[in-house]
Amino acid sequence: VLVMRHRMKSSGRWAKAEAILRELEEKCGTPTGKLRQVADAMTVEMHAGLASEGGSKLKMLISYVDNLPTGDEEGVFYALDLGGTNFRALRVQLGGEERRVIKREYEERSIPPHLMVGSSHELFDFIAAALAKFVATESEDFVLQPGRQRELGFTFSFPVRQISLASGILIKWTKGFLIEDAIGQDIVKELTKAMERVGLDMHVTALVNDTVGTLARGRYNNPDVIAAVILGTGTNAAYVERANAIPKWQGLLPKSEEMVINMEWGNFQSSHIPLTEYDQSLDAESLNPGEQIFEKIISGMYLGEIVRRVLCRMAEEASFFGDDIPPKLRNPFILRTPDIAAMHHDTSADLKVVGSKLKDILEIPNSSLKMRKMIVEICDVVATRGARLAAAGILGILKKLGRDTVKEGGKQRSVIASDGGLFEHYSEFRNCLMNTLKELLGEEVSESITVELSNDGSGIGAALIAASHSQYLEIEES
Ligand code: BGC
Ligand code: MG
Repeated sequence: VLVMRHRMKSSGRWAKAEAILRELEEKCGTPTGKLRQVADAMTVEMHAGLASEGGSKLKMLISYVDNLPTGDEEGVFYALDLGGTNFRALRVQLGGEERRVIKREYEERSIPPHLMVGSSHELFDFIAAALAKFVATESEDFVLQPGRQRELGFTFSFPVRQISLASGILIKWTKGFLIEDAIGQDIVKELTKAMERVGLDMHVTALVNDTVGTLARGRYNNPDVIAAVILGTGTNAAYVERANAIPKWQGLLPKSEEMVINMEWGNFQSSHIPLTEYDQSLDAESLNPGEQIFEKIISGMYLGEIVRRVLCRMAEEASFFGDDIPPKLRNPFILRTPDIAAMHHDTSADLKVVGSKLKDILEIPNSSLKMRKMIVEICDVVATRGARLAAAGILGILKKLGRDTVKEGGKQRSVIASDGGLFEHYSEFRNCLMNTLKELLGEEVSESITVELSNDGSGIGAALIAASHSQYLEIEES
């Protein structure tokens, strides 16, 4: 009788867990029709955001980058890349059309977590000090023109309202950063003051978003690059717009008649986006409730956390891990997206990677195969939704540019440069995104569109933009 009772109890558990999983699957569903609605909504919001300041949840920020690198750039340039879990300082020696990137060096550090929620002063002091140390290691191989100040492209991957190429006001923080006293400040001024404090003589020539840097880096290699997408800790896209298609642009029409737009698509929202109770509680408990909704269901900072929340409910309501709830499971953000990717990619018959992740991270020593299988399914559902929505976002951009159909006679190619750990390392996610794009565009059109990895695009891209807008350019030209 006891055995019977135990069996019944356990089959009841599984049934309940199974029901929670099916419900998740249903709520996260992204059939093609829905994705088309998301893409259309994205296009509509793009128009609205370009029409007027504050006209849409999509900020469609003007980058002041009106000409992208061509390959002719020459000289030594620095870049600072701040925006995710790590920050890097780098320098490149550019050799013009023939020799391109002759030499590059970088140094990467993780940002101490307390600095992400401290004061502006502390954060910028830390960055400036690290940069000064890096500059001190510059060897003679890097040939700086005599008498010239070093120039820097600063990749700052948060929403910034630019005033010019080299100044901009921080609108808000995202991705786990929250430094109140920096909001509303000119980021370049903050950095410049910190550089002065550490005695570093460096001119900030360009302030760019990581999407804009990645676009520049992509274009430097390939003239068909028209947009860039970041899929990393956060998510966002930038693309090249016709300057006369930006009604809110008050300035002179640039010579190129083009302007790079930083969409800030992480803040996109639409009733067509499938949301679950897990997304709602994640959002409510986040540093920025109500904001960055698209980002919160797509990007690397959040995928693992969504999975954790599903597992919590299964533990509570279906005793998924037994009678007790594993205490570690209660820790927000304990499951990181790289862990989810590793479990999702587990091809061993007994899913041993899943088993060891459960053991190492959640301190669940014994997990059954059935349990492991269900966990892989949860990862699959959550990652698939994110990847498919990212593909819909890309379709939205292609539609805005009229590149989602085959043009008569033309063999127009469109390349989207992409960077970020999610795209680079989570192959299930990347493959799903690519396949979805194909599904949405159809065979013929999808042949003319590629999404390519632009490794470390944002850092080098910022250096390239600094080079193509160098303060010494006019002197050289005259
Ligand atoms: C930021 C964007 C950035 C993206 C990717 C988002 O949270 O708002 O500015 O491009 O993350 O790093
Ligand atoms: Mg980055």
